[in-house]
Amino acid sequence: MNNCRVLLKPKKEESLRRFHPWVFSGAINKIAGNPEEGELVDVYSAAGDFLAVGHYQIGSIAVRVLSFTPIEIDASFWQERIRVAYQLRRSLKLAGVENNNTYRLIHGEGDSLPGLIIDVYANTAVIQAHSVGMHLARKQIADALHAEIIEINNIYYKSDATLPFKANLENEDGYLYDGKEIETAIENGLLFHVDWVKGQKTGFFVDQRENRSLLEFYSTGRSVLNMFCYTGGFSFYAMRGGANLVHSVDSSAKAISLTKQNVELNFPGDERHEAFADDAFKYLDKMGDNYDLIILDPPAFAKHKNVLRNALQGYRKLNAIAFEKIKPGGILFTFSCSQVVSKENFRLAVFSAAAQSGRNVRILHQLTQPADHPVNIYHPEGEYLKGLVLFVE
Ligand code: SAH
Repeated sequence: MNNCRVLLKPKKEESLRRFHPWVFSGAINKIAGNPEEGELVDVYSAAGDFLAVGHYQIGSIAVRVLSFTPIEIDASFWQERIRVAYQLRRSLKLAGVENNNTYRLIHGEGDSLPGLIIDVYANTAVIQAHSVGMHLARKQIADALHAEIIEINNIYYKSDATLPFKANLENEDGYLYDGKEIETAIENGLLFHVDWVKGQKTGFFVDQRENRSLLEFYSTGRSVLNMFCYTGGFSFYAMRGGANLVHSVDSSAKAISLTKQNVELNFPGDERHEAFADDAFKYLDKMGDNYDLIILDPPAFAKHKNVLRNALQGYRKLNAIAFEKIKPGGILFTFSCSQVVSKENFRLAVFSAAAQSGRNVRILHQLTQPADHPVNIYHPEGEYLKGLVLFVE
């Protein structure tokens, strides 16, 4: 069906037969047709059986699979995938409800669209491509979004920071539909300004919704430190949950200004909240010991396997200071969003930090990403967010 064909070496079709959506370059015997990066290719076994159709890539992942059946990747393909994903978010009561309009619509492999992320904030969708194939398909994807989801009338494409650097593409970030700059979105009844143009990622961290709700439950009467606060997500839940005071800290001055704006949106004039632009380690070193609820949600410490050791050291050091300083009876919410750090490794780093402090620590909850960031059962690598809620005596 497609001009170019990827032929695998003998016995290298096993993972595709088990629906794993990547073809590694080492599995390839021959590529017929000289595909450009991002082009659609058909994948065949050594015996000549059709296995998959996907986007060709240069690098260790050579093909990202879009379908295991020989179908046309056309407008109706994109519409169908988006329709299925949207129906799931509606059934999760994240879309089409009054108290929430912030959700991840497409989570890459988890929604059978490897290399594509789409986050929705009220009437705006932000598309983020992680592969050249998705970059080339961006207009078709935007058309499908527009056709399938009536409430979406503003579509922004933001991929400059996520496309493979070696592909050397022009920066194409910009509006594919309309051009409204900022949206006020709702998450579990709380309001947030989302600035996808200047903000980090797609503008907001959609993946902490459920963990923020759990924090709300624990925050009554507590003194809360929200470290790595970004736009302040956890802080507003803590305030709504009845915290005595909430301190939000981030090294980015822009993040602190967004946090302050969001406090004003939800709790105008509320003096329980203060925000500080500071480095995490500096702040933790100099702070006192009067917090009894601490959130540590740092950026990914490891983006590649070869820096895993350093990353684990980083998690250990960070958590060690929190264990040392948190008040007796305190609750620690600690996270890692590094995909290459496994649940076991993260737990081990936190365990070492706890042991170092000598405190009695109990695991109350083990957290992960919410259902709008689904993990494709055939692609366990998709599980990236790990969190622990700990009771520190
Ligand atoms: N908890 C946030 C998301 C955190 S993202 C939420 O719920 O939305 C990680 C944040 O860490 C970013 O905002 C980044 O600016 C901040 N950051 C990175 N390095 C830091 C450092 N050394 N000290 C403090 N903040 C840092």
